Amino acid sequence: MSTADDMKDPIPEVMPLIPLRDLVLFPNLVVPLFVGREKSIVALEEAMRGDHHVALVAQLLPDTQEPGVADLHVVGCVGTVLQELKLPDGTAKALVEGVARMRIVEFVSMEPYMQVRVEVVEEAATSDLETTALMRALVGDFEKAAELGKPIPQEVLMAAGAIEEPGRLADFIAFHLNLKSEEKQVVLEAIEPRDRLDKASLFLHKELQILELGSKIQNRVKESMSASQREYFLREQLKAIQQELGSYDEVQAEMDEYRSKIADAGMPEAVEEKALKEVGRLEKMPSAAAETGVIRTYLDWLVGLPWTTEDDEKLDLVEAKRILDEDHYGLEKVKERILEYLAVHKLTNAQRGPILCFVGPPGVGKTSIGKSIARSLGRKFIRMSLGGVRDEAEIRGHRRTYVGALPGRIIQSISTVHTRNPVFMMDEIDKVGVDFRGDPTSALLEVLDPEQNFAFQDHYLDVPLDLSQTMFLATANDRSTIPQALYDRLEVIEVPGYTRAEKFHIAKDFLVPKQLEQHGLTDERLDFTDEGIYTIIDYYTREAGVRGLERQVAAVCRQKTMRLAEGDDVATQVTRDTCESILGPYVHRPQVAERRGSPGVVAGLSVTPAGGDILFVECTKMPGKGQIILTGNMKSVMQESANTAVSFVRSKAERLMLDPDWLKNIDLHLHLPKGGVPKDGPSAGVTMFTAVASLLLNAPVKPDVAMTGEISLRGKVLPVGGIKEKLLAAHRAGMKEVLMPKQNERDLDEVPKEIKDDLSIHLLSTMDQILPLVLLPPLVGERPSLPPE
Ligand code: ADP
Repeated sequence: MSTADDMKDPIPEVMPLIPLRDLVLFPNLVVPLFVGREKSIVALEEAMRGDHHVALVAQLLPDTQEPGVADLHVVGCVGTVLQELKLPDGTAKALVEGVARMRIVEFVSMEPYMQVRVEVVEEAATSDLETTALMRALVGDFEKAAELGKPIPQEVLMAAGAIEEPGRLADFIAFHLNLKSEEKQVVLEAIEPRDRLDKASLFLHKELQILELGSKIQNRVKESMSASQREYFLREQLKAIQQELGSYDEVQAEMDEYRSKIADAGMPEAVEEKALKEVGRLEKMPSAAAETGVIRTYLDWLVGLPWTTEDDEKLDLVEAKRILDEDHYGLEKVKERILEYLAVHKLTNAQRGPILCFVGPPGVGKTSIGKSIARSLGRKFIRMSLGGVRDEAEIRGHRRTYVGALPGRIIQSISTVHTRNPVFMMDEIDKVGVDFRGDPTSALLEVLDPEQNFAFQDHYLDVPLDLSQTMFLATANDRSTIPQALYDRLEVIEVPGYTRAEKFHIAKDFLVPKQLEQHGLTDERLDFTDEGIYTIIDYYTREAGVRGLERQVAAVCRQKTMRLAEGDDVATQVTRDTCESILGPYVHRPQVAERRGSPGVVAGLSVTPAGGDILFVECTKMPGKGQIILTGNMKSVMQESANTAVSFVRSKAERLMLDPDWLKNIDLHLHLPKGGVPKDGPSAGVTMFTAVASLLLNAPVKPDVAMTGEISLRGKVLPVGGIKEKLLAAHRAGMKEVLMPKQNERDLDEVPKEIKDDLSIHLLSTMDQILPLVLLPPLVGERPSLPPE
């Protein structure tokens, strides 16, 4: 390090030159200088060897690495190097004081450093009143700039006030205002002090204007904007600045998009906060990090949910009834109950009521009733099947820590319809299962409970979503298998199976027109006759609902469409015969005929999840030791009831004129066909009793009789469930007579009148009533009551 001893040296004519990249030096001011370029370092050393004088001239463009004559301004400043410090990397730092303005007259040499001949610019002294006024105004404005936030130290302000020479004041202010280099150069080149004052005051004014504008905006921001708006405003500013500087990239654009989506999503405050926090995390993460994808997916889910979006609800009961009737034939009781429900909903304007659950066999229109409810309310409809759902996470989602985690099905469905007040149907609520993966029922309970569902927690989202505006409905095939906790929340509405006549009307008025339309056909081209429809019902379907019926109607339509496409445009009538040619040989025949006439075969009635059905009991005997063999997948209650039936027959052997010894020497085998299907329950008691008696007496049972009823050892007939379904099934199967417990008489109220009119129904209190009603005369040739030879 070396120090200048004598700064009063006269200024030499020739001196080394250091070009300045982004700096302008003024006389009487001191600046630190970083010298890095080789030529400049040599020039600096040369100056230090001499009298420390150096010419400092700004480059036209700061980026020029090796400036030549044409790359430099002509006017610059002579400086004295006060201090020099060599840095270890070969560069140097110097403290330079401006001594005088100068103009370059000649370049003396260019290598190994630049050397110039200079002419010092003398300034004339001025001191008129106007100049003094201008100086004061300038100092005043300078102070004002500091007040408005320009970072100017207090000492600098005081020093400015103390300067008396106008030219020097202009230099001082231009230097401390932090102007751009070009602006400083303009001030440096203004030789006349008055002119220089004007220039400096021009730049100062410009600066003041910007500062004032900025502070005005700031004030406005403070006054009228909430915190989030303020942040938005500042971010917009930042974005503008970044764009200006060229550092606004795609990542930034994406973050801004997320922020604006979040602001538009209408989330509750806490959720919004969380979402913004995630955006913040994402922003800070390197874009290659694996977790960015996870956060993006999460944010997409959050902004995609209908936090406040709702469909306008219209609820006009007359209109609702019209829509229900328009979409569904019959179902009067169901419709009535739905309208009541809607009326309550309208009055209380809340979703507090119980949840309607439609229970019935497949294809009876449970789902389509749900759709009609949605349509009559003007809301969207979602259907979610719960069949086989065993994992709580399916309903509620996986926590985000799992790889590939997603929200549960509830959130997914809500997100698809994008409204928070849809009609939401949970299908097959009786089929949810419990196992080691958790209990989906508890999640469902939370969803269905109006006390809890305003803040439904999905594991993935981890923020509550308000489901209280959603109208939930449920369906089930079998009410007895609905988990009890859920059952308590539901109001069950039975949707029974249809009678043959009802199916006919549904087909004629709903299914056929619908399928014709879907296949682009008219009833002139394809005419379903009544006979044709009945044929499909009787010979191609066996079901409580109408799904198979609809499928067969569709199959006929499809065939017709194909023929049309092949150019065959003859009007077709769907009759009994055309059915056979289109749909192939009959799939079903009336069941009764199959088993007609053999002793030991009796038609019972059962209830399955698919509605009522005919269940045959077959009994046969063989020499043996009085054992009873039961096959056909009977479960324990049914086995007991079989044993009871046999015991009862044995106990009545005498009255039936059966030889008790003979009974000891035969084995009885009771079988229920369709062995693949497990069967249980006591309601086949009377049927098994009749089968055993019919076999032993060798007397066939009337072919068109079906029966149901539990038996007791004392010979009583006890009530059973599912009377309505069973009678419908008997009717469907073409039975003429039905035997059922007297104690079930009240259940007949629910059975459609046309069914009751078609069937002759016998009410049983004791088992003694049965055989006289159903047995045909014993077959000749064999006396069953005789002991075997
Ligand atoms: P579920 O949900 O009970 O299994 P769906 O609602 O899927 O039955 O009904 C099957 C088909 O039968 C649908 O096309 C439906 O429109 C039709 N359907 C059922 N019941 C009726 C009815 N009473 N009137 C008109 N169409 C019906």
